[in-house]
Amino acid sequence: EAKSLGRQKVVLFDPSIDERHQQRLRYEAGLRQAIDNGELYALFQPRFDITGRRVVGAEALVRWQSEEHGPVPPSTFIPIAENSRLIVDIGRLVLGEACHQAARWAEAGYPVPVSVNLSPRQLHEGELIRDIQDAIHQAGLPPRLLELEITETHLMDNVDQVLPVLHQIRAMGMGLAIDDFGTGYSSLTYLKRLPIEILKIDRSFIMDVPGDVDDEVLLGAIISMAHSLNFRVVAEGVETEAQRDFLENLGCDEMQGFLLGRPQSAGKLLGTLRRCGETASP
Ligand code: C2E
Ligand code: MG
Ligand code: MG
Ligand code: MG
Repeated sequence: EAKSLGRQKVVLFDPSIDERHQQRLRYEAGLRQAIDNGELYALFQPRFDITGRRVVGAEALVRWQSEEHGPVPPSTFIPIAENSRLIVDIGRLVLGEACHQAARWAEAGYPVPVSVNLSPRQLHEGELIRDIQDAIHQAGLPPRLLELEITETHLMDNVDQVLPVLHQIRAMGMGLAIDDFGTGYSSLTYLKRLPIEILKIDRSFIMDVPGDVDDEVLLGAIISMAHSLNFRVVAEGVETEAQRDFLENLGCDEMQGFLLGRPQSAGKLLGTLRRCGETASP
């Protein structure tokens, strides 16, 4: 029939697109209320040294438990929030919660840094530096216990605008990590000129090792080059002991993944720290 329609086969109305659009609008409206109703909160995924024995940090990951839609994953609502200023409010909320919890872990004797993901929009709008200062002051958190993550793609697309902000963050004493490394096209030598010390290798490079020879070679090259440039290397999405083993042999420094810890409540993370945390030296 498409053929008989000839030139008129152009589809003017695609119900699936319309539905996605409707869904998006519903979520956006819901998200606004969700922030006020306290439906958004953070979980914390532990990061381990490569042996898996010691927790060396935790990443704050936002969750939306919607009364109306049930749990909505960040991959769905973060892009929607990014399209409006909602992301600035969400970012502030996560930052505040992350600093508060990290201060509690430190008080309990486990001074591990908390990592917070930064959205492109937070870096361009809003008052990121002031929000960060407010968050650490209110929590009484030493700046070195806060680490900020920015994705490689975003950084490279906006390096001129973002660079001054990164320098300010470092000057304040916080850590900076490149997230999802390998998904963009930046060279490590270029990244080395930026004030960044941690490289988080995207899960897609970890997924098929050991086994996929191309990925094995790539991973080895990334890690050894990163080390020669003095980056600390974190593997994301480690799910199996074989992956951990492989990464340890390559000299990878740290890892995060379901193998050793899922995103969990701050209270549960404290339990994880009690089992695998390094206590503050007296
Ligand atoms: P990301 O920062 O790269 O975070 C890692 C993601 O990988 C998390 O997904 C985490 O749950 C998942 N993950 C960790 N280990 C494993 C594993 O072993 N296997 C698998 N399959 N997945 C693993 P999540 O929580 O769904 O977050 C997805 C993305 O949403 C994050 O990627 C980050 O880009 C964004 N995001 C999450 N929270 C925030 C936030 O507070 N602010 C901003 N701006 N973005 C956030
Ligand atoms: Mg991250
Ligand atoms: Mg990542
Ligand atoms: Mg990601």
